Amino acid sequence: MSHPAAGKDATATTSDPACIFCRIVRGDLPAHKVYEDEHVLAFLGNSSSSTCHTLLIPKKHYRELRDMPADSMAVLGARMPLVADAVMSGMGAQDFNILQNNGHIAGQKVLHVHFHVIPRYKNDRHWPRS
Ligand code: 5GP
Repeated sequence: MSHPAAGKDATATTSDPACIFCRIVRGDLPAHKVYEDEHVLAFLGNSSSSTCHTLLIPKKHYRELRDMPADSMAVLGARMPLVADAVMSGMGAQDFNILQNNGHIAGQKVLHVHFHVIPRYKNDRHWPRS
């Protein structure tokens, strides 16, 4: 069985002018960058729910996880430990969570695939929502 998004990349929207995260990728909106390469960008979220809560995104615009071709997911997945390491060492965090929402009901507010990398500290209070 092939991946449901196999072959989709040729028709993927490279950038959506109305998307906040695409605007950050293009440099039209400021963001504090944690990691960047040709395919992915990691930057600090703008919510105060946790210190250095970081978002890892593909540079291409995909609304949600099922829209991403397997090769793009593989690249993004390979960067996750690098970004987690940067967040943890930069912040002196002991551990971290990865969170990923798909669709409004699941809590996705920005419709561009993103993984939350959430640093955790001993005795921190609660699970940050996003
Ligand atoms: P979601 O609820 O869609 O899973 O998460 C959206 C994330 O995007 C939140 O962590 C929120 O802080 C972040 N976010 C939304 N708008 C902006 C923005 O304009 N700049 C930055 N840096 N982060 C944003």
